[in-house]
Amino acid sequence: MEGYSEKPRSARPFVQAGYERDESGRLAAPVPARCPLGDDGSECRVGFRGCRERKTGPKLPLTVARCHCHGIAFTVYPPAFVPYGRAAVVAVDVEGRRIGAEPGASVAVAGTTWEAIADAAAGQRWAEAGGGGKGSRRTQGRRLTVGASLFGLFADSRARERVAAVLKLPALMLHEAAQRHVGLDRWRERAELVWQLLRQPLAGARSYVLLAAGHVAGLWGRPLARGTVRRRPQQSGSERLARAATGGLTGSCTLPRVCAETG
Ligand SMILES: [Zn+2]
Repeated sequence: MEGYSEKPRSARPFVQAGYERDESGRLAAPVPARCPLGDDGSECRVGFRGCRERKTGPKLPLTVARCHCHGIAFTVYPPAFVPYGRAAVVAVDVEGRRIGAEPGASVAVAGTTWEAIADAAAGQRWAEAGGGGKGSRRTQGRRLTVGASLFGLFADSRARERVAAVLKLPALMLHEAAQRHVGLDRWRERAELVWQLLRQPLAGARSYVLLAAGHVAGLWGRPLARGTVRRRPQQSGSERLARAATGGLTGSCTLPRVCAETG
C-alpha cells in the first residue's frame, strides 16, 4: 500500500524532532543525542550527516544524522511523519505546533492521512487521477486500509486488545467494529466505521497516541520519545572546518551543525 505497508517495512524505532528555523529562516532538525539503535541505553556518538530531499511527504529536506558507535545513518522525521509515510499522521506542523481544525470541522485532518477517511465518510470520493491538493482515488482507498489496520480490524483479537490499550478505548468496541467491518460491502460504510473510531483520538490532545497505536498495529516502527532529542549546539568556526573536511556536509542543506559528542 502506498505510504505504509501491511507488514512493517522496518520495525526499527525512528527518531522524531520538531524542526527549527535557523538564522536564515531554513528549517532543520536538531542533532539527536541518540540513534535508533541506542534506544537500549548503549553508547551513541551522533553527528549531522546532511539533508535528504523527498518527492513526497514533508515539503522540506529532512535532516539525516549518523551514529559513529552503531554505524548507521538515519533520518530525523518531523513530529507528524513516520518512515515511508507521505502524509502526516498527526495534525501538527514540522515544528511540532498543533494545527487547528478548519472552520466548521470538529477535528483537524487537512493534509493528514486521515483526511482521506473523513472525506470518504462524507461521501466524497477523490478523483481517479488525484488533484485539488489531494491524492488519487487509489490513495484514498489505501488510506482507508491504513485506518482500518490502525484499529486492528484485520487482525486477531489479541492484537486489537493491544491497540485498544494504547488508545484507551474499550477492546469490545474494536472487536465489534472488526465484526461489522467484515460485513460491509460499500466503501463509504467502511469509511464511516473507521472515521467513528478515529474521531476520539483525533479530538483534543490525544492525537499523538495514534503514533504509538500505529506501531502496536504493525504499521511503522516505534517513535522514539522526543526527549531523546536535544537542541542543536552552537558551532565554532574551527568545528565547522573540521567537519567539512571529514565530509560531514552533504546535500543541498548547509545549516550549521556539529557532532553531538555524547560518549
Ligand atoms: Zn547510536
